[in-house]
Amino acid sequence: MTMRQYFNYQNNQLVAEGVPLADIAEQYGTPCYVYSRAALTSGFQQFAEALKGHEHQICYAVKANPNLAILNVFARLGAGFDIVSGGELQRVLAAGGEARKVVFSGVGKSVAEMRMALEAGILCFNVESAPELDRLNEVAGSLGKVAAISLRVNPDVDAKTHPYISTGLKQNKFGVAYTEAVSLYCKAAALPNLRLTGMDCHIGSQLTETSPFIAAIEKVLVLVDALASMGIVLEHLDLGGGLGICYDKETPPAIADYVAALLGALKGRTQKLILEPGRVLVGNAGVLLTRVEYIKPGCEKNFAIVDAAMNDLMRPALYDAYHGILPVVQENHPVQNYEIVGPICETGDFIGHARELAVAPQSLLAVMSAGAYGMSMSSNYNTRPRACEVMVDGDKVHLIRARETVQQLFAGESIIA
Ligand SMILES: *Cc1c(COP(=O)(O)O)cnc(C)c1O
Repeated sequence: MTMRQYFNYQNNQLVAEGVPLADIAEQYGTPCYVYSRAALTSGFQQFAEALKGHEHQICYAVKANPNLAILNVFARLGAGFDIVSGGELQRVLAAGGEARKVVFSGVGKSVAEMRMALEAGILCFNVESAPELDRLNEVAGSLGKVAAISLRVNPDVDAKTHPYISTGLKQNKFGVAYTEAVSLYCKAAALPNLRLTGMDCHIGSQLTETSPFIAAIEKVLVLVDALASMGIVLEHLDLGGGLGICYDKETPPAIADYVAALLGALKGRTQKLILEPGRVLVGNAGVLLTRVEYIKPGCEKNFAIVDAAMNDLMRPALYDAYHGILPVVQENHPVQNYEIVGPICETGDFIGHARELAVAPQSLLAVMSAGAYGMSMSSNYNTRPRACEVMVDGDKVHLIRARETVQQLFAGESIIA
């Protein structure tokens, strides 16, 4: 069962687990993100099952969807977390996550963020540059602590994904250059307040083949062996996230097959394996509910203007990403070809192009596969309060984030004299 199948039709109604999405729209309004707890749980358990013969830590990448209720579901299943800011660390702790299972990635960690993470006692800093090594050494020293680190190595492999979400090529800003990694490990080994515990790579997002992951592992292992021969023995390998999902016609490997391929490429090495999956755990576990406001016939195109917009779901505008769009109730309207657009004053404000749909004003639509990088990339552009979020658990629905109010949006602003 793919996670998308936690949303299916029963008697012409799209249902999340046991709850008709139309009922959720009625109760909570639109736009509204809806997540399935069973789908979240299933994804995590597929990783845990596939990894159970090997020492491991699954660190959910918080930025994919940082809602506290989602973090809490994963924390209770034993997850660790991959964070990219101090704010995300505070979320993890507020959601009941354990600092000792947290890895901290990102190219621009501030002194304050390093302090916070050291004081919380995280598992590891994924260091991305030489100056970051020096800064972390200094900050750890000032606190009388030793920071556990891995270097994020840029293996210079092509992830064959959208250029904006490709991170493992040498022209990208991420990680340390492959050719400089060994000398940076030697530099780090000489810094008194750092402890070298691992090596890390993350080559991109929405990968639909295993071959780039395997290519990256092979390059990483060459470095691991070179370091071992110099007496620098690493305890863990962090292979990042990046496994893709099906939005349209993609055929990414199943979680079990992806993990099996990674373990195969490790060729019997026993280092603890850390993975940082984001999208694959939440993407197909969520939908965005929206209502048709207007049908606007045009000279060349028909528009269905809906109440969700690029501020709610930025992926189509940002990456020209495709999301399936399904009627929440299968109704008898004439089928037409529609541009599905939002109310924002930008031509880039679209949710989907050229969709054959039977809709009328007030019809509800479900934008599928919206659980990852949906709410987390949302904004208040056009002074639009952010959508509410709910989680379905069997036949129960829980509000996990209230719809924002306009008052909240300008609460921190002031008019000058
Ligand atoms: C974004 C990110 C991830 C998660 O990527 P997905 O494609 O969502 O799995 C993992 N690790 C790092 C360092 C990231 O920046």
